[in-house]
Amino acid sequence: MATILDGNNIAAQIKDEVAAQVKELAAQGIRPGLAAVLVGEDPASEIYVRSKVRVCEQLGVFSEKISPPASSTSEQILELIHSLNQREDIDGILVQLPLPPHIDSKRVLLAVCPEKDVDGFHPVNVGNLSTQRPGLAPCTPAGIMEILRRSGIEIAGRSAVVLGRSDIVGKPIAMMLMNANATVTVCHSRTVDLPAYTSTADILVAAIGKAAMVKPEMVKPGAAVIDVGINRLMDKNKVREYFPDDPKRQEEFAAKGSTLIGDVHPRVAEVAGAITPVPGGVGPLTIAMLMANTVKAARLRRGMAVQ
Ligand code: NDP
Repeated sequence: MATILDGNNIAAQIKDEVAAQVKELAAQGIRPGLAAVLVGEDPASEIYVRSKVRVCEQLGVFSEKISPPASSTSEQILELIHSLNQREDIDGILVQLPLPPHIDSKRVLLAVCPEKDVDGFHPVNVGNLSTQRPGLAPCTPAGIMEILRRSGIEIAGRSAVVLGRSDIVGKPIAMMLMNANATVTVCHSRTVDLPAYTSTADILVAAIGKAAMVKPEMVKPGAAVIDVGINRLMDKNKVREYFPDDPKRQEEFAAKGSTLIGDVHPRVAEVAGAITPVPGGVGPLTIAMLMANTVKAARLRRGMAVQ
């Protein structure tokens, strides 16, 4: 059976390190600050923003939640971003996605000043990552690299296969793995014969958003498997099929009417050398890295060395 890579544990280590850095900055009269912009009232986004604000409080980071109404225009949101760009007490600006459809998301994300772009989505930071310059890198892929490194998983010289090519996960994790000297292959929905690629991977990252799509026979024995996918299972029969010997899952499903599953079939754990669970794998790292990025932004903006 594969070693379980415990994301909660690694996220807790990172948060402790961030809290220590926040204390060190406080001794110099600096308090890192994060502005979270949540346009409208999407319930899932509300939950994400609330948990980000809560972690800021835990770590001593100043946070401000700004909630313009869903009826706001692109111009109004752009004005808000410009005012946050100017504020001295704000080091990081987070625009919670998705924005309402009438708002031009690309223009809004482009308006965030790259030095405060703690999500790492601005083209300047995409360029910084690709050319290995200091900057702010996207949180989920940065978290995956922390899982690999802190779990002692060798990257240099190994074969890494990434499933998915989104700007948020697939492309940046492929770039980070390449920067760390892996030989990287990126697969997507137009890839012909996916198993031909996945079965060569020493490190397999699945970020496609399709429940249990990666099956045991697609995975090289002993591979490190990183499951980024978060899919809600609502079908009782599927829950039985995927988790036949997991009474906790069955109980959870009975109580809530759903359970979460990744892009990787649970039986892959019988083949892989190491695997991230869902939930409790990659997910917790995303907020931890957002906090790390906020502190990094605070230091970079002041010309201080980053740790
Ligand atoms: P996107 O929908 O933006 O991208 C999905 C990618 O998967 C696309 O590149 C798509 O290919 C590819 N794909 C879809 N179907 C297949 C298939 N059958 N075979 C091969 N490739 C396929 O998703 P994200 O990258 O934003 O997210 C991926 C998953 O990760 C989701 O489940 C999401 O919820 C989760 N996630 C988790 C986070 C966390 O904190 N743990 C953070 C962010 C995302 P194509 O480009 O050709 O369309």
